[in-house]
Amino acid sequence: MVLVTVRRLVRERAGSCCEYCRTRQSDEPFITYQTEHVIAIQHGGSDDESNLALACTR
Ligand SMILES: [Zn+2]
Repeated sequence: MVLVTVRRLVRERAGSCCEYCRTRQSDEPFITYQTEHVIAIQHGGSDDESNLALACTR
C-alpha cells in the first residue's frame, strides 16, 4: 500500500523524532508517534511525503 510506504519514508526522514518538538520516539515508549498531514486533506493537502510530518501527541 502506497500510504504505508510514505509513512515509513516520513518516519525515516524524521529519524523517529517528533518534527515539531524533536522528542525522540525512543524517549516516549508510551506514545506512538503518528504521521500527520501538515495541510489537512480537506484543505487541499496531499498524501505526498512533503505534506506529512512525524508528530508526538503533545
Ligand atoms: Zn512533539
